[in-house]
Amino acid sequence: MKIFLYYISQTLAALLLIHLRFIYRFRLDVALLVFQVDNLNFVFSKIRKVPMSERVPITIIGAGAVGCAIAYQLSKSYQEIFVIEKNSKVTAENQSSRNSGVVHAGIYYPKDLGKLKAELCVRGNPELYDFCREFEVAHAQTGKLVLAASEAELEYLQDSMRIARENQVPGAQLISEQQAKKLEPNIHCIKAGYFPTSGIVEATQLVHKLYSLASQAGVFFINGTEVVDAKPERGAFKITTRSGERKEIFESEIVINSAGLYSDMVARWVNPDSPFDILPIRGESAKFYKNRRTELYHAGLNIYPTPHAIYTDGTKAEVSFSEFQKLFKQKKVVKTVGVHLTPTFDLIDNEYQIGDIVTIGPAAQRVENREDYSENLLPPVNYLKAVKNIFPALETEDISLHQTGVQAKLLQQYDWVIQPDEKFPRFIQLIGIDSPGLTACLAIARYVEELIRSVA
Ligand SMILES: Cc1cc2nc3c(=O)[nH]c(=O)nc-3n(C[C@H](O)[C@H](O)[C@H](O)COP(=O)(O)OP(=O)(O)OC[C@H]3O[C@@H](n4cnc5c(N)ncnc54)[C@H](O)[C@@H]3O)c2cc1C
Repeated sequence: MKIFLYYISQTLAALLLIHLRFIYRFRLDVALLVFQVDNLNFVFSKIRKVPMSERVPITIIGAGAVGCAIAYQLSKSYQEIFVIEKNSKVTAENQSSRNSGVVHAGIYYPKDLGKLKAELCVRGNPELYDFCREFEVAHAQTGKLVLAASEAELEYLQDSMRIARENQVPGAQLISEQQAKKLEPNIHCIKAGYFPTSGIVEATQLVHKLYSLASQAGVFFINGTEVVDAKPERGAFKITTRSGERKEIFESEIVINSAGLYSDMVARWVNPDSPFDILPIRGESAKFYKNRRTELYHAGLNIYPTPHAIYTDGTKAEVSFSEFQKLFKQKKVVKTVGVHLTPTFDLIDNEYQIGDIVTIGPAAQRVENREDYSENLLPPVNYLKAVKNIFPALETEDISLHQTGVQAKLLQQYDWVIQPDEKFPRFIQLIGIDSPGLTACLAIARYVEELIRSVA
C-alpha cells in the first residue's frame, strides 16, 4: 500500500510540474521527465527553474531546418540550450518546408563568390543522406540531369561542369543525349551534366526529426514566442520575447540568429551597423502527374535546365555566356538555377515512397511581404514556357498549381553570412541562408559549433 501511495504521489507531482510549466513557461522548465514504467520506477531528471531574470548559456532564434540542426548538434556537447520560435509549432513553416526538397550536389556555387555555400553544400550532402538513413527520414539519392537544349546553353553547362570540378562534386560527368535519355527517356537535350549525388528529402520530416532528437537531448523549445528585441547588456544579451500579450525578458550568454527571413532585422537589433539586408524572393511552383500519359513518364531524377542569366527585375536575359560574364561584372544580371522538375514523396501504407507528382518550379519574383504565401499563383502557361524545351511532351492542361515559398536572399552578396557579429562576437549571425540551406543544414550546424568554440 505504501509503495502504491508513493507512486501515486510521484505521478501527481509530475502532472503538477507539467501544469506549472504550461502556465509559467519561462519560470519553470522541466527538461526531461523520464517515466521508467517497466520497473515502476518514476524518475525525475533535470528539473530546473528559470526565473525571468536568469541568464542562460545559449539561445537560438528560429526553429527552421538550420535552427533545429544547430540545436541538435549543440545538444551533443552543451546543456541548457533554448530555441525560441515564433510559430506555434515546429512544422518547418517559412523556408524549410516551402521549398523544392532537392538535396543539392554543389554545382552552382563558385568558390570565389560563395565559399560557404560551395563547401557546406558539398560537405552537407553526404551528411544529410547519412542522417536520413540513420533516423529514417524519407530521402532518395535520385541523381540529377542538367540539360543543355541548344548550342548557346552548352557554354553555361560547361561552366557548371567547371564549378562541379572545382568544388569536387563526386561523380560529375558530361554525358551525351543518348546517355541522358537512358536515364530519363522523355527529356530533350543536346548534352547533359549528370550529378549522381543529387537527390530529394522530405523536408518537414527532416525538421521534425532534428527537433525531436534535440528535445530528447534536453533542448528547450519555446514555441509560439517571438523574439522582439535583443540588446548587448552586462557582457551578455538581453532578449525580449512576446507571446500574445505577454512579454518576457531574460539574458543569454551566446545567441545564434537563425531567424531566416527576419535574420537581417534581428542582426540590427544587437548591432545597428550590421550591413546586411534580406531581399524576399517568392518562389511559386506547379505540378503534373507522371502517370497521366506515357509521354509524361518520369524515371525520378531531378531535371534542370542549364543555369541562365536573369536581369535584376527577374526577366530572363537571352545572352551568350561571354555576354553574361560582362553583364555580371557590371552587376546587371545574376545567374539562376532555373525552373526544374523534381520528384516528390507520397505517403503510401504509412511509408514515404516516390509518388506520381512531379513539381515544376520555382518561378521567382521579388515581393514586399516576407511571408507572402497568397494563392495568386502564376498561370500554368508560364511553367510550360519555362520547361517545354527540356520536357517537350508537357501541355498546359497537365499542369496544376502546387505551392509558394519565400526565400531569404541577401541583397549585398551572393554567399551566406555565418559569422560572429563584428561588434559582439558571442552573437552568431546567420543571415541570408537561402538555397542550398536545406541540403547544408547539418554542415552549417557543425560550422556554427566551431564558431562558438572560437568565441566561448
Ligand atoms: C522556394 C524555395 C525553394 C528552395 N529549394 C531548396 C532546395 O531544393 N534545396 C535546398 O537545399 N534548399 C532550398 N531552399 C532553401 C532552404 O529552404 C533554406 O535555405 C532553409 O530552409 C533555411 O532554413 P532556416 O532555418 O535558415 O530558415 P527558415 O526555415 O525560414 O526558419 C527560420 C525560422 O525562424 C523563425 N523566426 C523568424 N524570426 C523570428 C523571431 N523574431 N522570433 C522567433 N522566431 C523567429 C521563423 O518562424 C522560422 O521558423 C529553398 C527555399 C525556397 C523558399
